[in-house]
Amino acid sequence: MTLQNPLFQDKVIIVTGASSGIGRACAIHLAHQGAKVVVNYASDEEGGQSALDEILSNGGAGILIKADVSKEHDVNAMFEETIQTYGRLDVLVSNAGLQKDAPFLEMSLEQWQKVIDVNLTGQFLCCRAAARQFVQQVENGSTNAHSELSVGKIILMSSVHDIIPWAGHVNYAASKGGIMMFMKSISQELAPYKIRVNSVSPGAIKTPINQEVWSDPDKYKSLMNLIPYKRIGTPQDVAKAVAWLASDDSDYVNGETLYIDGGMTLYPEFADNG
Ligand code: NAD
Repeated sequence: MTLQNPLFQDKVIIVTGASSGIGRACAIHLAHQGAKVVVNYASDEEGGQSALDEILSNGGAGILIKADVSKEHDVNAMFEETIQTYGRLDVLVSNAGLQKDAPFLEMSLEQWQKVIDVNLTGQFLCCRAAARQFVQQVENGSTNAHSELSVGKIILMSSVHDIIPWAGHVNYAASKGGIMMFMKSISQELAPYKIRVNSVSPGAIKTPINQEVWSDPDKYKSLMNLIPYKRIGTPQDVAKAVAWLASDDSDYVNGETLYIDGGMTLYPEFADNG
């Protein structure tokens, strides 16, 4: 059941990488709050369809669009189809991301490039397309530019590894560190257009990306040494924070990174005096 007077009534939201994990949770949560959600997937059509089915079966609205966020043509086609279907865009949740781990001495150029292409270039392509759409909506009068509120919102999925170095994952850490400065710079550039841009940086969230850690009791136990709050996060923990940033409740928040990590960034090794 969708809510009465939902937060995102008549809002159109694209969630990239919504076939799994955090993206799936964001798509379902936002649809539950009344948004028309574009469920993007790259290759996992079954996962995308399952997320959309859950939205539709709960009375929500959405469509499924296949697009590889690292491909300019795919991204532009996804935004065009969104506008053709719903006539506008209000929020981009730029979530898609992956890991290709290897020790630095053994990391191939292919492993490096793939992660940068999806995690960083994908953000560039999707954020640019969203920002262009928001500006166009102001120019054609379909968004009220005289309101005190923003004309469009972008939320980038970063990671605690935008500030915590991560040996064995340097391509991933470099991509997320890159997102931090990318986000802040476009936030600075787009603020005069009244477009808001923020990031969320999850810690350890229980999704397929890190299944080999949380499914192994020994690895899970040592993971808890890094989390003062002593539990792994859920995709819903992240989705709720994304919804706040996507709403007008956070209208004066711009260029910020919200850490959703149970305290992972609090240097837990120092809790016992270092
Ligand atoms: P996941 O593997 O469950 O989901 C990743 C999603 O991205 C999938 O839907 C996948 O299909 C999609 N994707 C991958 N490449 C794509 C491409 N080229 N085009 C479009 N979609 C693509 O993992 P997750 O944990 O849900 O990760 C989602 C985001 O959250 C990622 O950006 C990840 O870096 C970030 N994150 C996750 C954690 C965590 O602990 N799970 C922590 C910090 C950040």
